[in-house]
Amino acid sequence: MKEKIILRNKIREKKRQFTQVQLDELSRMIIQRLLHSDKVKNAQTIILYYSLHDEVNTHHLIDLLSKTGKKILLPYVKDDTEMELREYGGPDDLRKGCYGIMEPTGNTFTNLETIDVAVIPGMSFDSNGNRLGRGKGYYDRFLKKIPDVYKIGICFDFQKVDNIPTGLYDVKMDEII
Ligand code: ADP
Ligand code: MG
Repeated sequence: MKEKIILRNKIREKKRQFTQVQLDELSRMIIQRLLHSDKVKNAQTIILYYSLHDEVNTHHLIDLLSKTGKKILLPYVKDDTEMELREYGGPDDLRKGCYGIMEPTGNTFTNLETIDVAVIPGMSFDSNGNRLGRGKGYYDRFLKKIPDVYKIGICFDFQKVDNIPTGLYDVKMDEII
């Protein structure tokens, strides 16, 4: 969809105007908001993502929540279209996967009905919960399997827009942090 490609380019351009130090500083504020969310506080099993350098930095958050006894699940890329989950087992358990993303090495997590909350990154979100990803539809396909899980979209404030162009297969978020 052409509108999506245009919006992705616009967001990439905006990201370039920030230094890594600035993005990490902004990340801390957003992670604080997430930590104050009752949904996250009350969750026992949470899907998170291991951030790339230009995404809201989740590295400390993952360790922090993991140490408080929550089960943290991270995506891994299975093939060209599918992602699945593995349980986070500490920093030494991570290996670089497809697209340069760090992934846990254990078995596929299949107890999908025990997941309480999913924290999902995006290129952009609107206030109706619509999400723009990086363009491969991995999360749209995966989230179909867990329709009842509470989904929190997460991005820098400058990535939020009034209206995300959507297709029928795009899965909506319940909340944007
Ligand atoms: P993203 O969500 O990463 O921004 P898109 O929403 O543009 O990416 O989706 C990328 C491609 O993935 C689309 O061309 C779409 O056809 C395909 N796709 C997304 N979700 C599904 C799905 N549930 N089943 C089949 N194809 C899908
Ligand atoms: Mg999509």
